[in-house]
Amino acid sequence: MKSICVFCGSSKGKEKSYSIKAESFGKLLAKRNIKLVYGGSNIGLMKVLANSVLSSGGEAIGIMPHNIVEYGVAHPSLTELHIVKTMAERKEMMIKLSDAFVALPGGLGTFDELFEILSYNQLELINKPCGILNINGYYDHLLKFLDSAVEEEFVRIEHRNNLIVESDENKLLQRLKTFKPVQAHKWVDKLKELSD
Ligand code: AMP
Repeated sequence: MKSICVFCGSSKGKEKSYSIKAESFGKLLAKRNIKLVYGGSNIGLMKVLANSVLSSGGEAIGIMPHNIVEYGVAHPSLTELHIVKTMAERKEMMIKLSDAFVALPGGLGTFDELFEILSYNQLELINKPCGILNINGYYDHLLKFLDSAVEEEFVRIEHRNNLIVESDENKLLQRLKTFKPVQAHKWVDKLKELSD
């Protein structure tokens, strides 16, 4: 695993523990020689993470649409900053440059990015591991909701289980390394059978 795309808040969140863990995660990426790919911002947890990677000697690659660059929030000292035209182009590049995906705590932007990766894996448009670093139980409610979506038969258990969840960053990296997402054609065949 050479690079991980991290989605996380443009805010720091209420608890100090979010920043503390984002910082340890950044250090760990640098130590393992794993490049950080992220939104390129100099605000919130994104800033904490990128600064931690850079100050630990790692590489941080930002990808930002030009309209967000115009807000003046681009990180000034990244290893690389790619300025793209649209949010869609940004996601495409994030996917292309990364071997795996991790969500730290964040808001709507982070949820959008996380769910896009999960649904792309489900459709087998990509086949890359995706996990959550569940700091301070931040994602517990979301995970419960996903379980209820499985119970209500809108999400398949295999796809739910494609989301790796750990509160320890070392364990998370280990599981991302060894994980193989479920093959989509099996469930598509099953859905076809069920609707016949
Ligand atoms: P949010 O979780 O709503 O704070 O949004 C953060 C996520 O959306 C990040 O993973 C970014 O990729 C993207 N994003 C949202 N706001 C910004 C911003 N000001 N600068 C760069 N990326 C952003």
